[in-house]
Amino acid sequence: MRFTAPIVVAALCILVLMLGLLQWSGREVDRIARERDRAIVSLVLAQSVERVAHAQESSTVWDEAVRQVRKTPLDPSWLDLNLGEWFEDYAGIDEVYILDPRDRPIYAMREGARAAPESYVALENVAAPLAKLLRATRTVQKRSNGNLAMLSAGQGDLAVVRGRPAIVSVKPIVSDSGGLKQAPGTEPLHVAVVYLDDDFFARVGRQYGLADAHYAIAPGADSNARSVPLCDRHGGTIGYLVWKPFAPGRQVTAALGPALLVVLLLTTAVIYWLASRLARRTHDLEESRLHAQHRAMHDELTGLGNRATFEQRLDEALSRSRRHKTLLALLYIDLDRFKQVNDTLGHPAGDALIRQVARRLVAEVRGYDLVARLGGDEFAILIGEPADRQAVERICARVVAELERPFDLAGSQAFIGASIGVALAPADGLDRTELTRKADIALYKAKTNGRSRFCFFTPDMDHDVRSREESYRDLRLALADCERQLRVHYQPIYAMDDGRMVGVEALLRWKHPEHGLVGPAEFIRSAEESGLIEVLGDWVLRRAVRDARQWPGLRVAVNVSPIQLRSRVFVDTVRQVLAEAGVEPERLELEMTETALMAASGDVARSLAELRRLGVACALDDFGTGYSSLSHIRDFAVDRVKIDRSFVNVVNTVPGAALVEAIVSLARANGLCLTAEGVEEQEQYDFLRSVGCHEVQGYLLSRPVPASEVGRLLRGSRPEREDRPSALI
Ligand code: C2E
Ligand code: CA
Ligand code: CA
Repeated sequence: MRFTAPIVVAALCILVLMLGLLQWSGREVDRIARERDRAIVSLVLAQSVERVAHAQESSTVWDEAVRQVRKTPLDPSWLDLNLGEWFEDYAGIDEVYILDPRDRPIYAMREGARAAPESYVALENVAAPLAKLLRATRTVQKRSNGNLAMLSAGQGDLAVVRGRPAIVSVKPIVSDSGGLKQAPGTEPLHVAVVYLDDDFFARVGRQYGLADAHYAIAPGADSNARSVPLCDRHGGTIGYLVWKPFAPGRQVTAALGPALLVVLLLTTAVIYWLASRLARRTHDLEESRLHAQHRAMHDELTGLGNRATFEQRLDEALSRSRRHKTLLALLYIDLDRFKQVNDTLGHPAGDALIRQVARRLVAEVRGYDLVARLGGDEFAILIGEPADRQAVERICARVVAELERPFDLAGSQAFIGASIGVALAPADGLDRTELTRKADIALYKAKTNGRSRFCFFTPDMDHDVRSREESYRDLRLALADCERQLRVHYQPIYAMDDGRMVGVEALLRWKHPEHGLVGPAEFIRSAEESGLIEVLGDWVLRRAVRDARQWPGLRVAVNVSPIQLRSRVFVDTVRQVLAEAGVEPERLELEMTETALMAASGDVARSLAELRRLGVACALDDFGTGYSSLSHIRDFAVDRVKIDRSFVNVVNTVPGAALVEAIVSLARANGLCLTAEGVEEQEQYDFLRSVGCHEVQGYLLSRPVPASEVGRLLRGSRPEREDRPSALI
C-alpha cells in the first residue's frame, strides 16, 4: 500500500537513531568508567608506594637505628629484629637492604630471613638511581600525592625485580631526635622491596571494584578485559594491571537494546495498524463516495445514465452544437403498454422489461450517443451530430420496430411498443429546457396520433400545447368557481315494458365565461390529462347524489373516468358521499367504459368488487366501441350494458340490426340489464323493444335536463320543446 514504505522507512530511521544514541551514550559512559579506573589504578599504586615508605619510617627515623648502622661490626640480630625481618611481619615487605653512605649493601633480608648483602645486585639498577636521587634531594615531602605525612625524604618507584613487579622504596636512616649528627647525603639508606603479587592486585581489585584484577606482562588478547600499564617514574612500562571492566554503558545497552527494539517494533506495528485502518477507512470512504457519485448519475435498474446525467450531457452537447453549428437530436421515448405489463405480470416482470428495453435501445445507437432512463417507462436518447434529419428518422423507425418486437417475460410474451417524440437542435432551440419541452410535445403528439410511432416537433404543436394549457387553466378556474361555472344535467332513462322513467344519467356541463356552454366531450379529456378529473368527478358524484334525494326511488347514473376508478380512495369517497346524502347505494349506478375495465389492474378489479358489495351498480358504457369482442361481455363484472349510440344508429340496416340483436341476446343470456342510448327515432325504439332491450335513453324521449326539470318529468309530463336545454345537447 502507498503508506507502507514511508512508515517502514520512518520506523527504521527512528530505530537506527535510537540504537545509535544508545550505543553512543553506552560508549561515553564506558569511556568515563575507563578513565575512572585508570585514575584509581595510578592512585592506588602511588599510595602503595607511599604506604611502603611510611612503613619504613617506623624504624628508619630513629636515633638507635642510626647508631646501630654505624656500629662496626654490625649487630645482625638487632638489624633483623628492627630493620629487616621485622618488616616482613609488620608491613609485608619482601626484601630489605641497608646501604652504607657509599651505597654499598651492608645488610640484606629476603623473604623473612637474613640474606647475603650481595643479593642487592638484583635491584641495584633500580635502587641505585633512587639512592642517588635521594642523597641529592633532601627536602622532606610533608605531603606526598597520597595522604600520608612523611617524616623523612624518600624515593620510590615501580620496577621489575627478579622478574616480578615490585615497589622499590628508599629511605634514609636518620635521627629522630636530631641529636645525632649526619652529614647530608651520607645517611645510610634503607631499601624496601614489596612484590606486587596476586594478593596485592586482588586486594586492590576488591577495594576499588575491579573484578578479577591481576598482573600481566602484556595487555593480553582478552578483548573483554581492560588494562592499565604499570609505569615507573620514567614512564617505562613494567607490566599491566588487567581486570574485567565494569562497563555500565554496555550493560545498559545490552539490557536496554532488546527492550527498546521490542518497544520500537511494537510502536511501529501499532502505527502501521492505525495507519492501515485509516487508509482502509479513507479507501472505503472514497469507494462509497464514488459509489454514491455513480448512483447519483446512473439508473440503478438499467445501469443507464439517469436524468442528472442526461441533463449534463445534453448541456454539453448543446454547447458543442452552438459552437460548431452541428446537428443534435433529442429523442423522448415512452413505452405504450408498460403499465399493463406491470399491472398484470407484476413488478419483477416490469423491471425485467425495462432492462430489456434498455438493452435494445443501447444496441440501436452508437457508443457515444447517450441512452438515459428518465424514470418509470421514459427514456431519452441523445444523438450527437447525425448526418441529417433522415438519419434520425431511420434511427427512430428502428427503435419503434425494435420495441414492437415481443419481449420474453416470466415465460410469456409481452407486446408493448413505444412512442417517440423528437426535437432537433439547433432548429428547435439551443436551450435545454426549450429542447426537452419540444421533444415532450412531440412525444405527446406521437401518443395521441395512435402510439407506436415517432413524431418530430413542428411549430404548430406549440399552438396545440398552448391551447391545451389554457384549457387546463380554465378548468382549474372553473373548479374553483364550480357553483357558477359547472352544473349537472340529467337525461332520463325509461323502462321499455311500461314506459316508466326509471333513472337519470348525470351529465356534466360547463358554462365557460367566454365560450359559453361547453360539452364534456371537449373537456373531459383535458381534465384527465391535467389530473383534474378526480376533483371534477367527485364534484359531479356529490352533486348527483345530493340531487337524487329529491327523486326518491329513481336511479341515478354517474359517469366515472378510468383515472377515478384506479384511485385507491374512490370507493371510500363513494361510500362517504352516499352516507352523507343518506341515499341508498342501490340507487347509484356508476358508468365506466370498456377501456377503464380493460386496464383492469388489481386495483380496479378490487374497487369494482367492493362497489358492488356496497350495493352500487356498475354499467358498461359505450358497449361495442371497445377493442374486445362481444363474447367477452361475460368477463366484465358489471350489472348493466349500455349499447352505444353508434349501434342504435344503424339498426335500420340489416347488419346493424343483427349486431344489436346479438348484443341483446348475449347480455340477456349472461343475466345483464340492457340500456340502449342515443335513441332518436321511433323505429329505433320499436326495434329495440322488439329484440328485448330493457331500457332506453335518447333525444326521442328526453334530452338531458337541469335537475329542476327532472321532478316534472317524473310526474309524467314530458318537457315542452321550448323548455329543452340549448342546442348543444
Ligand atoms: P355518454 O356517457 O355516452 O353520455 C351520453 C352522451 O350522449 C351525452 O353527451 C348525451 O347528451 C348524448 N346523447 C343522449 N341521447 C342522445 C341522442 O339521442 N342523440 C345524440 N346525438 N346524443 C345523445 P354529453 O353530455 O355530451 O357527454 C359526452 C360524454 O362525456 C359522455 O358520454 C360521457 O362519457 C362523458 N361525460 C359526461 N359527463 C361526465 C362526467 O360527469 N364524468 C365523466 N367522467 N364523463 C362524463
Ligand atoms: Ca354514460
Ligand atoms: Ca354512452
